[in-house]
Amino acid sequence: MKQINHIIGGQEVVSTSGRTSEVFNPATGEVTGLVGLATVDEVDLAVGVAKAAFESWKHTSLARRTAVMFKFRDLVDQYQHDFAARLTAEHGKVLSDSLGEVRRGLENIEYACGLSEHLKGEFSQEASTDIDVYSVRQPLGVVAGITPFNFPVMVPMWMYPNAIAAGNSFILKPSEKDPSVNELAAELLSQAGLPDGVFNIVQGDKVAVDRILEHPDIAAVSFVGSTPIARYVYVTGTTNGKRVQALGGAKNHMVVLPDADIGLAADAAVSAAYGSAGERCMAISVIVAVGSSADPLIAAITERIPTVVVGDGTDEASQMGPLITREHRDRVASFVANAEEDGALVVVDGREQSFEGGGFFLAPSLLDNVEPGMACYEQEIFGPVLGVVRVGTYDEAIKLIDDNDFGNGTAIFTRDGGAARRFQVDVDAGMVGINVPVPVPVSYFSFGGWGDSLFGDSHAYGPEGIHFYTKAKVVTSRWPDPATSSIDLGFPQNV
Ligand code: NAD
Repeated sequence: MKQINHIIGGQEVVSTSGRTSEVFNPATGEVTGLVGLATVDEVDLAVGVAKAAFESWKHTSLARRTAVMFKFRDLVDQYQHDFAARLTAEHGKVLSDSLGEVRRGLENIEYACGLSEHLKGEFSQEASTDIDVYSVRQPLGVVAGITPFNFPVMVPMWMYPNAIAAGNSFILKPSEKDPSVNELAAELLSQAGLPDGVFNIVQGDKVAVDRILEHPDIAAVSFVGSTPIARYVYVTGTTNGKRVQALGGAKNHMVVLPDADIGLAADAAVSAAYGSAGERCMAISVIVAVGSSADPLIAAITERIPTVVVGDGTDEASQMGPLITREHRDRVASFVANAEEDGALVVVDGREQSFEGGGFFLAPSLLDNVEPGMACYEQEIFGPVLGVVRVGTYDEAIKLIDDNDFGNGTAIFTRDGGAARRFQVDVDAGMVGINVPVPVPVSYFSFGGWGDSLFGDSHAYGPEGIHFYTKAKVVTSRWPDPATSSIDLGFPQNV
């Protein structure tokens, strides 16, 4: 069985806490690893090492930092299949999906390769007579990233490439459910020439998170995970004076207008609801069927569900893998049972499909007549369960989405450009798709939801990511002739 350790200052460090967490292969249910959970002292060790590394990394030229990022980009590209294999082994998603995750992460490294452009300051010559004013952005110091199980490669890559490129040192606290894939990232960063201590991994749970949130030498924390923990991280981190961006859970609605191409909308709904077994923060979990779209759409989705091949992610034929743990699979299944009790109609019941072996599989489910107030509508299920809410009008659809506490992503399917544009303007959500069901922004925009899907005011990666990991300094400068110098107690005026 694999022992998964911290990586601090370029060295593996074995936890002495005596506390461990089991890591599974979700496709077989077997325990494949044990991750050692950090003590407070081990977090402190990582922070100390990162702080020391920051002192020289922040003075490393843009040219040299750029070279490291380009080399890292090439190495990740070269090792993308290794990342994907490690990812599938602990997360369970199918290999093609793992590869897609790695490639979207790679785009964030490519964005970070443009660091010299992103960190350019501004300059105003002769802002006042003989006075120039310029601004620069400087790194914060030691920054930390706390990440969820569902994108163990990509979500850390939303964070550390930009943070490191901007001159910070970084501590990653991955999910304890699939913690080992980032060992490869650490190895490749080192091969790319990143000095030891600039990137560190601390394995752990709440003990590690709480120490990160209170450690005086950590300047900023990026968090991605569920809403209750995101809120906790934001409140605790900011109370301790840190800059915090905390991305939370989601309930993403896909509106289908009566004029939409029903076949296209059904394909999109099945892909976006059941891809990665619904364990995506941008998964579609609610269809809002407007007017006459409902019956044909439900029929088209029902027809497609049996074609989804559920199986071991390493099998090329599989399109959907298992869920992350047995407990999570059972929790997701319980939403289907509760939906029935609450009065929804279970059109397709994923619990009816049985699987051999001990894997954490659950086939796709489809619920009709879902309504606000039902647990399957109000809570994030984070599994392959798609609910349909029927509404009469476009305005009802907008109100439904706006009344929902989450505001991560949303999508509209229509052939009416005017309706789509109106939706884009009206709807309360941070990321909007027009005939695109999973509108994850490209790496040179930024990612973030509204409402309970994000705490803090800056989104992840892209320009807002660079902004988050740097602080601005404005310099006002003049080189006067000492012969003209005099005392003037008045407030400086620009002339
Ligand atoms: P989670 O909130 O359980 O865990 C996230 C991180 O927080 C992990 O590193 C975990 O170790 C830590 N953590 C867990 N409980 C903690 C506690 N009590 N105190 C301190 N730290 C704690 O989330 P998860 O189950 O790993 O991931 C799934 C969730 O993440 C879903 O809600 C999903 O929507 C969300 N997510 C959001 C986005 C986004 O961009 N908004 C992206 C991916 C996932």
